[in-house]
Amino acid sequence: MTRFIFITGGVASSLGKGLASASLAALLQARGFNVRIRKLDPYLNVDPGTMSPYQHGEVFVTEDGAETDLDLGHYERFTCVDAKQSDNVTTGKIYSDVIAKERRGEYLGATIQVIPHVTDAIKQFTVSNLNKEDFVLVEIGGTVGDIEGTPFLEAIRQLGYELGRNRTMYIHLTLLPFLAAAGELKTKPTQHSVKELLSLGIQPDLLLCRADRDLPVGERVKIALFCNVKEEAVVPALDVESIYEVPLRYHEQGLDTEVCCHFGLKTDKPNLDSWKNVVKRVTTPEGDVTIAIVGKYTILVDAYKSLVEALAHGGISNNVKVKIKWIESEVFESQIIPNELENCDGILVPGGFGSRGAEGKIKAAQFAREKGIPYFGICFGMQMAVIEVARNLAGIKNAGTTEFGNCEDKVIGLMTEWENEGKLEQRHEDSDKGGTMRLGAYPCIIKENTKIHKIYGKLEISERHRHRYEVNIEYEKQLEKFGIIFSGKSPDNILPEIIEIPAHPWFIGVQFHPELKSRPFEPHPLFSDFIRAAIEQSRLV
Ligand code: GLN
Repeated sequence: MTRFIFITGGVASSLGKGLASASLAALLQARGFNVRIRKLDPYLNVDPGTMSPYQHGEVFVTEDGAETDLDLGHYERFTCVDAKQSDNVTTGKIYSDVIAKERRGEYLGATIQVIPHVTDAIKQFTVSNLNKEDFVLVEIGGTVGDIEGTPFLEAIRQLGYELGRNRTMYIHLTLLPFLAAAGELKTKPTQHSVKELLSLGIQPDLLLCRADRDLPVGERVKIALFCNVKEEAVVPALDVESIYEVPLRYHEQGLDTEVCCHFGLKTDKPNLDSWKNVVKRVTTPEGDVTIAIVGKYTILVDAYKSLVEALAHGGISNNVKVKIKWIESEVFESQIIPNELENCDGILVPGGFGSRGAEGKIKAAQFAREKGIPYFGICFGMQMAVIEVARNLAGIKNAGTTEFGNCEDKVIGLMTEWENEGKLEQRHEDSDKGGTMRLGAYPCIIKENTKIHKIYGKLEISERHRHRYEVNIEYEKQLEKFGIIFSGKSPDNILPEIIEIPAHPWFIGVQFHPELKSRPFEPHPLFSDFIRAAIEQSRLV
């Protein structure tokens, strides 16, 4: 029997509903249950693919090629369960499906309305494409009280009624602000938020209360009484040093025990040794290294969520803390030598779009190559490294990418046709922007006896992609003469997937996004090895 846990948020946004959902799922997993986590996002975009990272943070890409909310990254990192296309939906997607169905005449003349047609579509999405999971955790984006969230809340209310209370549970995440003048944590916003939920017909079963200090017993009793939940179901969620501590702290506060109790389930205590081990490594490192990330969205760390986590995982596997120095690539465009790069142990140029700041990224790659500093180019970062090598080593002065308009030497160009699982995919300059990149997992064949071969320890890999442009294979021979090799390619030998400079301590560019597959328990080999190389570099200086 599949049970559904609905997680809503109240009082304020950014309370960490995604982490809370991921942590509860991890705890249930540690008790031996199969879990899946889904996210229902109330905004109107069909998916976050076209949104600026400033608006919405990173776009997380699944194996099956969906562009999704960054919370799905937390879900994967905490549970090691690969998320799917069917795990994230938005109002935009629900509406476009409902309208397409109406155009096909499938509603047989009915007047199409938010209730029941939109809510039915949300319910159907929530309960379909499952695989006998014990628990499906469903996080509702936004905050209770938002106008656009209402159809989602109505849909989950109906699901509770239809599936029965023994198969459903409502968890509400709220905030208890500390008021210095009163010297206490305030419960009133939580009471109001629960009232708002009640007005929509939802009585929460458990309250997860975010606070920056211990919740006194008296306050816990008060919240329980006024919000109509058991005292044990008022679970404090205190701030922690590392996100990987969250499952441990929730367990201590009785979250998973209470959830099992709600469903009448008896299990052994969860085994949380692997979590304890990760937290120990994160909180007691033996040293540190500094990695410079040269990017465009550096003021918003959420824009590089998976990347930051993957670097931390690389630190976990080497027992060091990875310090990140954020560098705005545009700065270099007016500077000859990027001074800020001098004192770092590794340089990483992440994925990116558009010409703003690109010349700075090219300079960062040049600096890393010439100074022998470990360089990791991811997607756009690989493309910029290829342009750098083409211009400065191979003498192809006008090397560029068609992403910035027409250029003389199209070292990077738009891929107009390629095969995906036997199907021909086609793109043009004027194709729609949404959902039309090379997306999701693709296989890559690695050249024997290369650095990348040593790192992965195998010759065939699969990694996730999200890009429109590709390195132009026609330049392979010309560039190889100057010491850069194309050490990974698509199985048909047409798309360069990995480049490296064998004579450099660590200069690797990958067309895919390895950060999306890194997990705290299984750090990605590329990140582990990059941090290892950075440690070596730190010993040199
Ligand atoms: N803008 C580049 C492309 O579309 C790189 C994308 C990325 O880094 N994800 O190919």
